[in-house]
Amino acid sequence: MTARAVALLSGGLDSILAIRILQEQGVEVEALNFRTIFTCCQDDAGKAARDLGVRLTVVSQDDDYLDLLRKPQHGYGRGANPCVDCRIYMFQRAAHFMRQVDAQFVVSGEVVGQRPNSQMRLHLELIARRSGLDGRLLRPLSAKLLPPTWPETEGLVDRERLYGFHGRSRKDLFALAKQFGVTEIPQPSNGCALTETLFSLKVFDLMDHDPQAQRWDFELLKAGRHVRLDARTKIVLGRDQADNEKIDYLYRQQESRATMLLRAHGFPGPTALLTGPADTAAIDFAIGVLLRYSKNYDVDGAAVIVETAGAVTSRPVQGQQVIDDAELVTHGGTPQMRHLRKRVAAST
Ligand code: SF4
Repeated sequence: MTARAVALLSGGLDSILAIRILQEQGVEVEALNFRTIFTCCQDDAGKAARDLGVRLTVVSQDDDYLDLLRKPQHGYGRGANPCVDCRIYMFQRAAHFMRQVDAQFVVSGEVVGQRPNSQMRLHLELIARRSGLDGRLLRPLSAKLLPPTWPETEGLVDRERLYGFHGRSRKDLFALAKQFGVTEIPQPSNGCALTETLFSLKVFDLMDHDPQAQRWDFELLKAGRHVRLDARTKIVLGRDQADNEKIDYLYRQQESRATMLLRAHGFPGPTALLTGPADTAAIDFAIGVLLRYSKNYDVDGAAVIVETAGAVTSRPVQGQQVIDDAELVTHGGTPQMRHLRKRVAAST
């Protein structure tokens, strides 16, 4: 029987090596790349698949991933990354794909103890069990430190030619890469925004204030500077041209939950988007924050274009109050500001 495996391929060195080890043993490999709305750098997986000569399928999360993010059974990592639950979710989809393509087992490049939490030995075993894969999940880089898996006991894979890597050091992995002729070593990065501190603050801010937040709201977190007026109202301002375009694009989506779009007219300033009730106080606040992040405008002639529910109006800047930093903080400010305030309060 020809052994066929599905391998999770992120494009990082570990997943490349895991596939190379299996290929050395004559196993046919189908690669699977899992992406969420928070991951980036997926070109790495495409390039790695081409170099390895394997077929690559990309699967995206469904909306139930957001439930997992809101209430991870196994908690968060250092940021808003629910890695253990996320890995279980990922491997459940890999198990489904394995059955679809008639493969017998799943392979991943995890190394025992390489990452805190999700790659602790206990968690690796838990992930295998909870994903339903159990013994059909093989980690070739650390297999010798883990109980024998089904492909090993069935003789599809020779356990003696697997490895027992452990910990964060990458020296032995580099040596193995050299042995396999892998000359381009990808930079270690999981490309997941949920592990970033500042992004995580925005995620927690959203989940704290809007338990019903949808995919669109999480997409919006990837653009701009987020300033909260109150529990229901938030202003998102572009930091550069790319952000401005993204904000404009998101406003026009069918799923958009924004109530208003604001654009600087006749002066350099951010595009801004308002979520929550667009009452007079919120609009004045939004314009005031937009002016705070604008430059070189002529108070007498400049205007802000306000778009809401299909109607476009122009609001003169004259007479508008600019929100200064002290006021931003009073209103709650950005998630970063609130975080800093909490840290200052905790240390005094
Ligand atoms: S880093 Fe992100 S994508 Fe990777 S396991 Fe953790 S939550 Fe999932």
